[in-house]
Amino acid sequence: MKKIFVFLLMFFLFSCTKVKETKMEKKLERYKPVVLNWNINYLDRWEVEVLKEMIKVEPLIDELFLIQVHPENLKWIEMIKDEDLKEYFKINFGPWDRLESNKPFWGNIKKPKGAGFYPFDLKKEEFENYIKDLSEEEKEKFKSYFTVIVRKNGNLEALPYSTYYKNYLEKLSEILKNASKLSESASLKKFLMSRAESFLSNDYFQSDMDWMDVSDTNLEITIGPYETYEDELFGYKASFEAFIGVVNPEESEKLKFVGEHIVELDESLPYPKGFKGEKKGALSPIRVVDLVLSAGDTKAGVQTIAYNLPNDERVVAQKGSKKVMLKNVIEAKFDAILKPLSLILLEEEMQSFVTKDAFFNEILFHEVSHGLGPGIIYLEDGTKTTVRDELKDLYSFLEEAKADVSSLYLIDYLVKNKKLPKALENEVPATYLASMFRSLRFGVNEAHGKGVLLQFNWLYEKGGILRSPEGKYILSLEKFKEGLKGLLEKIISLQAKGDYEGTKILSEKYTKMPDFLKEDLKKLKDLPVDIKPIFSLNF
Ligand code: ZN
Repeated sequence: MKKIFVFLLMFFLFSCTKVKETKMEKKLERYKPVVLNWNINYLDRWEVEVLKEMIKVEPLIDELFLIQVHPENLKWIEMIKDEDLKEYFKINFGPWDRLESNKPFWGNIKKPKGAGFYPFDLKKEEFENYIKDLSEEEKEKFKSYFTVIVRKNGNLEALPYSTYYKNYLEKLSEILKNASKLSESASLKKFLMSRAESFLSNDYFQSDMDWMDVSDTNLEITIGPYETYEDELFGYKASFEAFIGVVNPEESEKLKFVGEHIVELDESLPYPKGFKGEKKGALSPIRVVDLVLSAGDTKAGVQTIAYNLPNDERVVAQKGSKKVMLKNVIEAKFDAILKPLSLILLEEEMQSFVTKDAFFNEILFHEVSHGLGPGIIYLEDGTKTTVRDELKDLYSFLEEAKADVSSLYLIDYLVKNKKLPKALENEVPATYLASMFRSLRFGVNEAHGKGVLLQFNWLYEKGGILRSPEGKYILSLEKFKEGLKGLLEKIISLQAKGDYEGTKILSEKYTKMPDFLKEDLKKLKDLPVDIKPIFSLNF
């Protein structure tokens, strides 16, 4: 009797807390905590020692990125006492909700477009007017990925990261040097040493080159200022991040053929006639990795599942780019989100085609695609430039859309050439459809989400995606394939010409969220939007 009473009481208490669940708890539930496992048996003794040294970078990179997002972040996080709120602040690296177009969830300060990289009141026009008459060399400093723009005595100044973030970069440099000493792989030793120097010199070219050459180790260490998404003013400034992982040698071996066929894959893309530009580097290693730890930019909000680096076109032209697939993260997202989502939004006959294998391949070829297509281009007047410089703030969203669309194009090509299993023919489009809804939930103000909206609206308009009155989705395969091809041609031609105005027109027409889609996405409200990684660091 007593037991039952206790049980009932607990039930009562439990349901009460359930009812009283705070708004912040609801927000936190959107990120499902998942433990990321990895296999220590792939590592030699010395590699374990290097790893133990390298995981020390986490708090430094996290803080550094917090400051890059907003210089007041460190002060603000100290002011917050509520545990849930603090946790959500940490997930978002600031008081702005990355899943809700950066709406503030604490305080009411609007997030500056240029994050902590520029003076808050700086307008695009002011910056452009200011640098217009500067020498080429000075202009480069202002547009550099690795400078912060500040106001001094009424003038604008470009300060190198190595000066502006000196305290952090010196400490990081020290850790990398220590790790370098422990390395028994000469190439890893060289990379860690040269990256340690980059932090102090602000020149990342050589260490990017060395990163491409790392071999003879199952450690995958990526650390530095890389992506420019956080700078929504110009997309110039790079954010600090780190990925530390363990290579799965068997899975990586299986993908060797992709690297070997990279030139052929690039040539299969629909380049416009008479394209003037330089082909990207032919070397393109792929590593399948289980993530041990991530820090900074990549850990904010939605978790990265794969990356393709470096971004420096000069390095890509000489060495190609390396693709790293984060297998344990990919699998965690498939199980926690993609599969359950497909049961809610896809017509029944499509559901069984949503597979882990197709998901993995789409992500893989998304990354492969970033290394293909126009990079360094020549404008009509002969000026040598890059797609990134010409498309500025619109570059990232178009490049992400290109990577999604050409990934399907390349898989199709490889299936036809019997390099990939035939089953993918049906699995990939279905999984892609489910994956679009997954990405749209990340918010459409951000490059990936906006790129997906372009694809969805385009394919819906062409009749490739169909929606039942109940809000269930299905593909019309022929129209879907035609639509994809048309979209890819369009994107590559915009990139090949460095056509900012054309990209703007495309963006304005196709990146609005239709009302029916907004309603349908609401059906996913009880599903987590993403995972929150729990790192296994007791080794
Ligand atoms: Zn991408």
